[in-house]
Parts: sequence; C-alpha cells; structure tokens
Amino acid sequence: MRSPFRLSDPKRGRDLADAIRILAPPEPFKIVHVCGTHEMAITRNGLRRFLPETVDLLEGPGCPVCVTPARDIDTAIEIARTGAIVCTFGDMMRVPGSETSLDGARSEGCDVRTVLSAADAVDVARQKSVEEVVFFAVGFETTAPTTAAILLDAPPPNFSVLLSHKQIPQAMAALLDLPNSRIGAYLAPGHVSTIIGTHGYWSWLASFRVPIVVGGFEPLDILYAIALILRQHRDGVPKIENAYPRAVSDRGNPAALALIARVYEVADVAWRGIGTIARSGFRLRDAFAPFDARSRFTLELPEEESEIPGCRCPDVLTARAVPTDCPLFATRCTPLSPVGPCMVGSEGACSIWFRYGGRKSL
Ligand code: SF4
Repeated sequence: MRSPFRLSDPKRGRDLADAIRILAPPEPFKIVHVCGTHEMAITRNGLRRFLPETVDLLEGPGCPVCVTPARDIDTAIEIARTGAIVCTFGDMMRVPGSETSLDGARSEGCDVRTVLSAADAVDVARQKSVEEVVFFAVGFETTAPTTAAILLDAPPPNFSVLLSHKQIPQAMAALLDLPNSRIGAYLAPGHVSTIIGTHGYWSWLASFRVPIVVGGFEPLDILYAIALILRQHRDGVPKIENAYPRAVSDRGNPAALALIARVYEVADVAWRGIGTIARSGFRLRDAFAPFDARSRFTLELPEEESEIPGCRCPDVLTARAVPTDCPLFATRCTPLSPVGPCMVGSEGACSIWFRYGGRKSL
C-alpha cells in the first residue's frame, strides 16, 4: 500500500476507501485512537462514513484536560485560595473539580490566569517577585518536555509546578484490560509519537496484542492508517507501523526525551474516568523538589466526588461509549453549559461531536 504523499488527492481517497472496504472484517472491529486532534479531523471531515458497518472508530483518553483527575483540579483551586496565582492552559478553566472549577475559583476572587506555555507562567512569577505563582502542568508527552525545560532554566524561587503530565502508551495498554474494552486496534497519536517515536510503544508491545499504527492528521493520513490496521488484522500479525513517517521517526525526539528523563521520575498517576494507571505519569526528581507545588502548600482538600451523576465521561474516555450514548448529550450538557470534562476540552469527544456531529452506534 502506497503512503499518501499527496495530501489532497480525491482518487487516492477513493482508493483508500475501497481498500478499507475490502480489508474490513465481517465481525465487529473497534479501532481506538487517543488524540483529540485525530477526533477533530475524523469528525469534521466525516471520515466515519468511509468505514464499513463492522468497523468502529472511537476516541479514548486522548483529551489531556478531560483525563486530568478532579483531585488535581481541587488541588489547583485550593492553592489559588491561599492567595497564590495559578496559571494554566485555557481549556482547564471550566473542567469541573469536585465542587467547582478554576473558573469558579476565579469568580470567588482567586487569581487564576490562562497562559499559552509554562514560560508565560515563569514570566508572571518574575513580574511578581513576592507572590507565589504556580503552573498547573497538564498534558501528555508533547507538553511535558516544555515544563521540564522551564525547571532546568533556573525559574525564580516564587515559581512552582503542580505536575499532572501523563504518558499515553501506558494508558493504551491499561485500556485493553478493562472489562468490555473490546479494542481491536489502536490508531496511535501523531503528536505524542513525534516525541516518543515508534520505540515508545515497543516496551508495551507484549501488553498490546493488537495492531498499532501511528497516524497523521490529514484525512488521507487517517484513512491510510486505518487501511494498514485492517491489513494487520486480516494477516493476524499485530505490530507497530508508522503511517506518519514525514513527522515521526523510530527514535522520536531525543532532546525532548532527555529533558523528560532529567527532570521527572516515572510514577503511578490517576486518570479521570479510568483510575490509577501504573507508570503512566511523572513526579519531579529530588533535585527539583523545591519547585513541587504539592509540597510547598499545606492544603485541605474537599471530599472527592468520584462521579458526576448521569455523565458517561468514564465510558467515553475508555472508548466504551460514544458521546451520543450519554442521555445528557446536547440536552443538559452543551459546550456553553458543560456537565462533564469531555464537553469542556476542545479535544474532548463530546465537545467535538456537539460541534461537528458524529455517528451514534458503537
Ligand atoms: S455529554 Fe456531557 S455529561 Fe455526557 S458524557 Fe459527555 S461530557 Fe459527560
């Protein structure tokens, strides 16, 4: 199968759609991707209409703000209530914690600011040499190196980090073992893979047992990756394939990986809707402990609400439901009035399906 070097080519698109139709198994087959940008491209371009009835394509835990646990949001809110300035990405502001959101804390009078990067938060700390400034660091392997780089660049003493970065391959492996996961294959995320490379999945290969194909974000990239997945499934030999070689190498980005290794230790961390996943996140190495917001502030956290009544985000985030399976979708829960995290984040499946439409059935 030829790689789609020309990204806008109707004939190539038709050929890939034909290949998908021919390669599709007669039995139900579920492909899961773990990237909000993939969901956006799939839904906005209506790519699910090219899939035969037996093939489903769902977003799993690919939205970084959606998988940030309520406990971490509660911690950020309590830090803000001490009088510290909390900086984070805009998508985090309305994600519900146990009692309220960061936006809610701001309406109480807390100083919560949106920034575009960890470097912006350091700038705030430098301007405010007395007040504490905390960067609430969320995201996957794509954003973890930038937080690490900031900590290696001698930030001011009034700066600290509330670390909530996560690693995608470990979550992909964990999802396979959940009851009723029925995951037949993974479309692996293009962005994360530019950092970890295809090697980043190798150590998890034994856990995976399913085809994994790294895909890009153009419609032809995605159709091509799906065709490769179905060919692997037909041949019965799951492996890791790279359908995005113009951006992803085997080794990934060694400089970014070195930053991660210098600043973080691997840790077991909680994912919203999934629970704690072994070795799926980070904690700061001892040398950076003075910048750990969790130890800098003494906090009394509220009782954690583990579930939002009626919200099916845990099932959406584990690819066991699609947004329209939730009775609150587009009724009580909309982007203007979100009930769960998947309707807040611009990369959340519910938010994307609300804006662009999706396919109802699993
Ligand atoms: S529609 Fe709203 S309440 Fe339902 S799963 Fe999505 S975010 Fe949660």
